[in-house]
Amino acid sequence: GGGASSVVVSAAAAASRRLPVGVRKPPLRVVVTGGAGFVGSHLVDELLARGDSVIVVDNFFTGRKENVARHLADPRFELIRHDVVEPILLEVDQIYHLACPASPVHYKFNPIKTIISFPLQTLLHIFYKTNVMGTLNMLGLAKRVGARFLLTSTSEVYGDPLEHPQKESYWGHVNPIGVRSCYDEGKRTAETLTMDYHRGAGVEVRIARIFNTYGPRMCLDDGRVVSNFVAQTLRKQPMTVYGDGKQTRSFQYVSDLVDGLITLMESEHIGPFNLGNPGEFTMLELAQVVKETIDPSARVEFKPNTADDPHMRKPDISKAKSLLHWEPKISLKQGLPRMVSDFQKRIMDEKR
Ligand code: NAD
Ligand code: UDP
Ligand code: UDP
Repeated sequence: GGGASSVVVSAAAAASRRLPVGVRKPPLRVVVTGGAGFVGSHLVDELLARGDSVIVVDNFFTGRKENVARHLADPRFELIRHDVVEPILLEVDQIYHLACPASPVHYKFNPIKTIISFPLQTLLHIFYKTNVMGTLNMLGLAKRVGARFLLTSTSEVYGDPLEHPQKESYWGHVNPIGVRSCYDEGKRTAETLTMDYHRGAGVEVRIARIFNTYGPRMCLDDGRVVSNFVAQTLRKQPMTVYGDGKQTRSFQYVSDLVDGLITLMESEHIGPFNLGNPGEFTMLELAQVVKETIDPSARVEFKPNTADDPHMRKPDISKAKSLLHWEPKISLKQGLPRMVSDFQKRIMDEKR
């Protein structure tokens, strides 16, 4: 029969297949595009902690070097300033593709100062280009080196949904010519390209549809509702509620998302999978939680809402629960204080 060495090899191979996520060997070489951003930097922390080598590719459009600064001296970590719209050559095992500017729609309506001062049209262009050309390049890279590719898509692919809660089988209700279409359609196209590279070129792919996520390191002024309400309350400004505040969202704490992304990447399932916390809140209820967490004297002020704003959003996560055995663990009331202490520090630093 086979020599001793082949027995050893196959036994080792079988054992490595049985090893749970996190202790698998050998360490992987992983690229995280958008790894200097909010979600990406938390993902990088986790991948390095489990022993992988990580390359972050980021153009710092909405991300910050500070988010990954603690890893700069780590020999398993590398930071490359690069725009994914341009091709790049790397040799890796896995690609987490998160690069994508924060939703530009907000800049038009965001009453607080914004970090970026491009005209809206430029932003939409950058946005669409990143999603389409950036995703194409990362899929081309995955194809060339045989890497597994994970796309971070979004609940926005469901548009203003007519089905509630949203299941992965729902095709969505998106206005193709509306003010937020660049974001929705950009991500829908990214999903399409991902499935085409899978079917046409045999690339191993994974698709996550992420629902509203919050936590430490979020941009202070990117206009998303949780960061707005928290920053406003800490600055003793009223929380800006758009419209009547009865629209709903479901808020997921970032560590639950990172756990879901890694579980999906390591699984045998392509997806798409909804990754979100099914706990649903109106914007007025969210304001109430922020008030209770930070300052009982906090106030709200009403502002006109943006066009095409989804009325309600809540993930149906039964698919991820049954196939990935994943579900979020941290409620809004548990997660919010962890974000508040990070925001408090950063807002104090601003004042210095
Ligand atoms: P973020 O803005 O903090 O991170 C995005 C990162 O991508 C930033 O570091 C930015 O500099 C980088 N980037 C943008 N364009 C780039 C380009 N052309 N080349 C290289 N890097 C580029 O946003 P986030 O919240 O961390 O989002 C990460 C991903 O998750 C995105 O794809 C986003 O669409 C998706 N998502 C997030 C949420 C959420 O609630 N946070 C919800 C749904 C989907
Ligand atoms: N690409 C890349 N890095 C690679 C391989 C490809 O950035 O390691 C880019 C490539 O420049 C192209 C895209 O990915 O723009 C799609 O590549 P693919 O080989 O699928 O298509 P083609 O080059 O044949 O158009
Ligand atoms: N929103 C709000 N006040 C703000 C920012 C947002 O009331 O200061 C509302 C917004 O109109 C939307 C909801 O909060 O109904 C979620 O907005 P966000 O931009 O955070 O995420 P998305 O619309 O992408 O779900």
